[in-house]
Amino acid sequence: MAVASQDKIQSRAQDISPEEVAGRLACAREAAIQWRRYSLSQRVECLRGFWRQIQAERDEVVDVIHSETGKPISEIQSMEIDGTELILKYFTRNVHRALQDHAAARPWLFLNKRAYVRYVPRGVIGLITPWNMPFLIPFGDMIPALLAGNAVVIKPSEWTTRIALMIESRFIASGLFPEGLLQVMAGGGAVGAKVVEDVDMVVFTGSTSTGRSVAEAAARKLIPCVLELGGLHPMIVAKDAPMRRAVKAAVWGRFANSGQICVGVERVLVEESVYPEFSKGLEAEVAALRQGTSADYETDLGRLIFPGQLEVVLRHLEDARKKGARVIGGEIKDREGLVVSPALILDATPEMLVMREETFGPVLSVMPISCVEDGIQFANEGPHGLAASVWTSDLAQGEEWASRLEAGLLSVNDVLSHYVVCSLPFGGFKQSGLGRRHSDEGLRMFCQQQSVIVHEWPSDVPEIWWFPYSRAKSRLLSFLTKIT
Ligand code: NDP
Repeated sequence: MAVASQDKIQSRAQDISPEEVAGRLACAREAAIQWRRYSLSQRVECLRGFWRQIQAERDEVVDVIHSETGKPISEIQSMEIDGTELILKYFTRNVHRALQDHAAARPWLFLNKRAYVRYVPRGVIGLITPWNMPFLIPFGDMIPALLAGNAVVIKPSEWTTRIALMIESRFIASGLFPEGLLQVMAGGGAVGAKVVEDVDMVVFTGSTSTGRSVAEAAARKLIPCVLELGGLHPMIVAKDAPMRRAVKAAVWGRFANSGQICVGVERVLVEESVYPEFSKGLEAEVAALRQGTSADYETDLGRLIFPGQLEVVLRHLEDARKKGARVIGGEIKDREGLVVSPALILDATPEMLVMREETFGPVLSVMPISCVEDGIQFANEGPHGLAASVWTSDLAQGEEWASRLEAGLLSVNDVLSHYVVCSLPFGGFKQSGLGRRHSDEGLRMFCQQQSVIVHEWPSDVPEIWWFPYSRAKSRLLSFLTKIT
């Protein structure tokens, strides 16, 4: 197996200073003033032109992501780049409809006035992004933020700074945008904290604990804050589930991106009567996975991206072993290179860490349940509520079960599709997040709403509720209110 070298894993760029962050944000503000004057159609054309240039350098983009993350080439192509294209297509095709002024209903008493809502840019949007999807996640928010007329600053994870800097350099080189409209602030958490202080809205993707700090900082500034945090996807498999598809979905839903996906399947809860068959299927599928870090299309599984994640994975495996689970795989192939083989934890029990905390790595845990009802109850315990799925051949029953799951992203017989079905709001319940991205709301959240009332007729007559007050006017007004 080819192994990632340490210099490729460690891709930190130099932190920029707080003064530099402030200077660059001032420049972003200037750029935002120019950019908001572009029509929606012009913004759409600029972004499409930029994307064409990115596509022209697709191989180089893939190389940079591969060297920073060790992801399989097929996954970079499909999840990072094709996924971004789907998002771009959705937003560029729908932005006119979502952001056009729209008329508001008004009470009968006000029919002589026109009321409508308009959407205006917020100014500068801060995106604090993680290392697991270092291309898709920044693009996923910067596209709607820019279309809505804002400038964008990105604070990428210090583990995946190079791809962010590459996006910025190609954005500048395209010559399509005002100078400073998109900027990358390289550095660690302190740079992220400084960005949050100076922007007009922040969108954060990452851990629940850092998300909480970001939300506190945003609250102090009274700026809007959208958070997408961790998940613990419970996949509930009923005895009548389409077995072949469910087994393959569990394996792909967990081991894609080496398990480093917030909506990835963490826990499979399987009805007892099909548990032996299901587990056997999983063993065979996991054994067939091809792991490596070389840049070829036939690799299924790469390495971990963030060194701290290896410690979490090992701690969770050790805990499961100690508590009596049957653990298959999960060997360290190369500690320096962050390569750990895919692990299957069979006969997991509720008190194990893998059932309670996000592992965010190549570890799939499976637990028998006596019935789906018990599975739903277990799935709803705990603080997470991002994605959840149910598996059954009875789709109506599946939808009913799904409706009782406390999660923002529900699937019946499916996994990991929501992010690119961009017409759906994307986000979590409970401690898995705050707010929603995507859909029309995902564009509108990057705008301030202005509510406008225009009095049309009669042009020079005062309203009866204005001064001077009188009993007769008061009675007439009450009568008109009643019949409205
Ligand atoms: P963090 O939540 O710490 O980091 C996410 C982003 O926030 C990074 O860009 C980070 O910078 C930045 N950051 C850190 N501190 C602050 C701060 N005070 N203010 C503003 N920004 C800040 O995640 P980690 O990378 O440490 O990963 C930890 C865990 O998070 C993982 O184990 C996993 O469970 C979860 N995670 C969830 C993801 C999701 O999609 N929901 C994605 C990635 C991780 P820097 O990295 O440079 O320190």
